[in-house]
Amino acid sequence: MVERTGPLFGEDITRVGFLCDPVFLEHRTPPGHPESPRRLRSILEMVDAGGLRRRLTSLPVTPAPREDLLAVHDRAYLEAVALPGERYLDPDTFISARSWEPALAAAGAVCSALDSCRAGEISRAFCAVRPPGHHAEPSRGMGFCLINNAAVGARHAQRIGYPRVMIVDFDVHHGNGTQAAFYDDETVFYFSTHEYPHYPGTGAAGERGTGKGAGFTRNIPLRAGSGDAEMHHSYHEIFRAETAAFRPNCCIVSAGYDLHEGDPLADLAVSDQGVREIVRTIVSACADIPLVCTLEGGYHLATLARCVGITLEELLR
Ligand SMILES: [Zn+2]
Repeated sequence: MVERTGPLFGEDITRVGFLCDPVFLEHRTPPGHPESPRRLRSILEMVDAGGLRRRLTSLPVTPAPREDLLAVHDRAYLEAVALPGERYLDPDTFISARSWEPALAAAGAVCSALDSCRAGEISRAFCAVRPPGHHAEPSRGMGFCLINNAAVGARHAQRIGYPRVMIVDFDVHHGNGTQAAFYDDETVFYFSTHEYPHYPGTGAAGERGTGKGAGFTRNIPLRAGSGDAEMHHSYHEIFRAETAAFRPNCCIVSAGYDLHEGDPLADLAVSDQGVREIVRTIVSACADIPLVCTLEGGYHLATLARCVGITLEELLR
């Protein structure tokens, strides 16, 4: 019997970009720090071992354009992060000798993925990057984050022809930095599910935006122990409705896998299947627009790799 494979049978109709680069391993953290280069190594092993690599379009990573960085972050803050020398930005957030280059490349990966979508080369992408970004505020890095990769990507998206940008953040922690970047902006919608109360303390349901941005931030705080049922409601009911009303031109996903029940840093009870349903719902709500995922948290190595694999499978559907 001839084994038949290929696009005729529904595989790989959707072109999905995968962006990763050895430069991301150059951002070092102190021994025992959960945000370590091992996170990316475990993801790359999974992509290679599971046969996903051949189904993905590997794309090069370039540094984020300066004007997109400056559209989010204060110049003085960027100059301070770029200074040489190892030091702590806060008790959790370490800058190593070569952190600037990976930080620029992490934000740049999101921009590059969006460029490839705009050029029609892909329709979705996953950026396996570090350091993560969603806690980085315009003038302050924190929570393992130096540059806000999703926020810089959103400004890049607008510059290349996607005026309305949806950012959806399923990391277990609230993306205070992303919220701060667009709190008064009606052109970027920020949607977040997160454990609450928890680090960093923001993300109450009443935080809905201000001025022109009123109504363009939506926080779904979830108590410790919340799991698949709460996530199903949050995404199937609320996220879908917000997306339909906002009518975005592209979607950026802050993909943090510390929401999983196996993660050591938080206490939600989301299963593998729960992660799959979240991603599937986001993909279906954004089926007609470019969708770019960027890695945020996720600190149990095997769980992280497995959940990134689940995400890639859903992006490829
Ligand atoms: Zn997190």
